[in-house]
Amino acid sequence: MTRRKLVAGNWKMHGLAADLREIEAIAAAAAQNPEVDVAMCVPAILIERAVRAVPRFAIGAQDVHHAEKGAHTGCTSAAMLVDAGARLTIVGHSERREGQRESDDEVRAKATAGLAAGLDVILCVGESLPVREAGDAVATVAAQLDASLPANSERLAIAYEPIWAIGTGKVPTVDDIAAMHSALRSRLVAAFGASGQAVRILYGGSVKGSNADEIFAVADVDGALVGGASLAAADFIPIIEAAARG
Ligand code: PEP
Repeated sequence: MTRRKLVAGNWKMHGLAADLREIEAIAAAAAQNPEVDVAMCVPAILIERAVRAVPRFAIGAQDVHHAEKGAHTGCTSAAMLVDAGARLTIVGHSERREGQRESDDEVRAKATAGLAAGLDVILCVGESLPVREAGDAVATVAAQLDASLPANSERLAIAYEPIWAIGTGKVPTVDDIAAMHSALRSRLVAAFGASGQAVRILYGGSVKGSNADEIFAVADVDGALVGGASLAAADFIPIIEAAARG
């Protein structure tokens, strides 16, 4: 099955209003590469301004609360993200699974809430270095995926992000990426039947313009989730162009 590639940036806790000019340049490059879906997940407080700056470009959030509303100080609901103009949200990023101790159950509830509100959802999974070194990466990440999946696969994408590759400059071998993405595809088909073939599986972890071609050539790699290299248009645009080539 052919799946359109998706290149999504994750600004994490970076970015002020002045940095929106980077998104303007990225949106212009995305428009020149219409065969690729491109999105940028910015800090929640920047979403509305980013949407105003680039109304035709997909702006997303980095997290969403699972509840519709209520006594959850500091949190943001899916309806609030939609109201601000977001089209997608990341859930289950390892920095939240670790830093905010988010469980698989919570990640599944967040994904369910995002999809129910009409957002596209990028659900992150990935193993730690000790798990990789113990040879348990595929089994661990497959189990994490099974436990985090929402009931509905429409508008869902998965991001495989080995924790040890995030922001480190280290990247798994193409064989290791292929083995993981193939295992995740099998789990998606087991969960959703034929619809599991349509779910995009992104790779994330130190993707740059210099390694993107090689990564996008791997079977079942349907795009990338990009942290550090998404902050500047000059770094991100070559990744969009690599996705358009491959
Ligand atoms: C991320 O945080 O999702 C990520 C992939 O970061 P980086 O590209 O900086 O490794």
